[in-house]
Amino acid sequence: DGPVSLAVINGDHDQKIRGVARWEGDIAEDASIHDMMGKGYLVITIEPKKGERYQGIVALEGDNLAEILEGYFANSEQLKTRIWIRNGEIDGKKYAAGMLIQVMPDGTGSPEDFEHLEQLTDTVKNEELFTLEANELLYRLYNQEKVRLFEPQPVEFHCGCSRERSGAAIVTIDRAEVNDILAELGSISLHCDYCGTTYTYDEAEVSELFIEANSGNKTLH
Ligand SMILES: [Zn+2]
Repeated sequence: DGPVSLAVINGDHDQKIRGVARWEGDIAEDASIHDMMGKGYLVITIEPKKGERYQGIVALEGDNLAEILEGYFANSEQLKTRIWIRNGEIDGKKYAAGMLIQVMPDGTGSPEDFEHLEQLTDTVKNEELFTLEANELLYRLYNQEKVRLFEPQPVEFHCGCSRERSGAAIVTIDRAEVNDILAELGSISLHCDYCGTTYTYDEAEVSELFIEANSGNKTLH
């Protein structure tokens, strides 16, 4: 119930992500997550390739998003986790970066080990986090530890919207309502808030969509 009514990120196992936030009015530069969200909660939904999708819901307990996510891992996954999320500017360029440390689900490692890594990670400076390559950063932070570095995966923006999916959404609207919009505007437009693309359908294209949808030919998903 704060000025930010919704903030959502979708991502997949290929690190392709998209996100959108909805807000009203001006938000102060130093606003906390509680100032922004008011009363709210964090929902994490995981859709495995096989099997049922599952959802974890936690209260916004903590001073910032990192602490709230730590709470999620503690409650829903029962995994001790620390997260650092930083954002800032260097030479006029904006950065956001983060780190996560987490106990291995197999139970190896002691609480002292974890605490030790926490303390080391706490020393990370914004500039290091923003500008250093991962291997260099890991070396600086944990140079007395044995580090195994996995192949890095690029994280990139990707929106899965398409003309076909927008069309599938239109045919779920009542036909009479669609006709009203067409009569008034001459066409129907759907706007994707994630990537900013607008899909427009004229009257003939809308008719085509409904014919296809009613023919039982499931080409639309
Ligand atoms: Zn899109």
